[in-house]
Amino acid sequence: MLTEHLTEAERQYYYMEQCRRWLEEQRSKLGRPLTASVVTFGCQMNARDSEKLRGILENIGYEMIDSEKADFVIYNTCTVRENANLRVYGRLGQMKQIKKKNSSMLIALCGCMMQEPEVVEKLKKSYRHVDLIFGTHNIFKFAELIYRRITENKMVIDIWKDTEQIVEDLPNDRKYSFKTGVNIMFGCNNFCSYCIVPYVRGRERSRQPEDIIREIADAVADGVVEVMLLGQNVNSYGKNLETPISFAELLRRICRIPGLLRVRFMTSHPKDLSDELIRVMAEEPKICRHLHLPLQSGSTEILKKMNRRYTKEDYLLLVDKLRAACPDISLTTDIIVGFPGETEEDFLETMDVVRRVGYDSAYTFIYSKRTGTPAAVMENQVPEAVVKDRFNRLLEEVQNIAAKVCSRHEGTVQDVLVEEINRQDEHLVTGRLSNNTVVHFAGDASMIGKIVPVRLTCCKNFYYMGEAVNLTKK
Ligand code: SAM
Ligand code: SF4
Repeated sequence: MLTEHLTEAERQYYYMEQCRRWLEEQRSKLGRPLTASVVTFGCQMNARDSEKLRGILENIGYEMIDSEKADFVIYNTCTVRENANLRVYGRLGQMKQIKKKNSSMLIALCGCMMQEPEVVEKLKKSYRHVDLIFGTHNIFKFAELIYRRITENKMVIDIWKDTEQIVEDLPNDRKYSFKTGVNIMFGCNNFCSYCIVPYVRGRERSRQPEDIIREIADAVADGVVEVMLLGQNVNSYGKNLETPISFAELLRRICRIPGLLRVRFMTSHPKDLSDELIRVMAEEPKICRHLHLPLQSGSTEILKKMNRRYTKEDYLLLVDKLRAACPDISLTTDIIVGFPGETEEDFLETMDVVRRVGYDSAYTFIYSKRTGTPAAVMENQVPEAVVKDRFNRLLEEVQNIAAKVCSRHEGTVQDVLVEEINRQDEHLVTGRLSNNTVVHFAGDASMIGKIVPVRLTCCKNFYYMGEAVNLTKK
């Protein structure tokens, strides 16, 4: 069949059909269903991409399982920090033996790490048992690439440097029935000097607002009540569209979708967080009382070297504005310790911001040198022992403050969206407050996906124990 006249989505459905036939033959030969597993590393973007990969594998006819002993294993990789790469090589080494015992097994790799040419070279040379390699720009071609692998019977590599293309309407398999991530944009234009993301995810591309709203409305019709809007810098959403639209306006439109109860988003770059957005956050009750606002460093000097384009004072002013508009908001952040040239004074500036803001939690990272980024060749890389000492001091401070900040709602009754049966105690359920704090309380599976009012009886540093005060509300 000629596929040239089809839309990209139609072409991919054609390849899914071809793969399905092949899989059916394998199933008859083996006398058992074939299984697949998606292993995800890294951020929420990758988690969302993995839902799309799972959707395609299920459509083809694979039975999804949670084990790397599956017949098809795909690693969706991250390369933000060096140790993420090392973990993937470790896993691949182990897979060689497992694959030897299963002749139907296929191993695939995709995601950010595959966008690095030296990684692909290493895989070609030393990991010949890998069947399929693709990157971040052509995930939508997954079915076509599987088809190529099974028909050509050799390692298939398809890495694109960049793309303008956004393919809508492919299958996806949501991890939770009641909440989902929704990409509103792809790529990043910011080039923070330590960060590899702009090189591996390409330039910023926003989806059309109508496509986003349609996807969310469809998800709501399927039972979703909470969405997490995803982008590397959601605050610059829509600026490059033919008909530009602000992120704040997009949020307003999304909040009007009937049946949708909660809206979250990440990540917000402080340099682009507008007064209009703060106003919308204050006005729209569906927008969750939580903002992830990466600080990276509290030192204006270091922020400049990081190319973050805000100062310590700008950041603190923004926090004041947010707190004035939304007094109950929880703030969380990302902080990097040991950026090249960071002095003890710089580090103390970071500690100062941590104390002044009072974060509910913070992801703290040791600076990792990423080849190709401007920071990798900066002088004055900080010695490891110094970085470790600062990292430990920061972690302790962050944890002490978070424990105090988190407990401020103790004794109040708040809505909890129940997510799952508690993993340690089956008599409890686990859910989240609007501000994203985790709550455990007595309940059962019938509550999953529902919003339940809960009295927060006791704060245990980062989470609450509570009691449902009412019958299920929604
Ligand atoms: N786009 C988001 C933003 O601007 O905050 C974050 C994307 S990045 C995947 C998540 C976090 O990883 C960053 O906020 C930063 O703290 C951290 N990160 C990025 N590059 C890093 C590096 N080279 N070393 C250590 N941490 C890094
Ligand atoms: Fe990386 Fe900066 Fe882009 Fe975030 S905004 S992805 S930290 S370059």
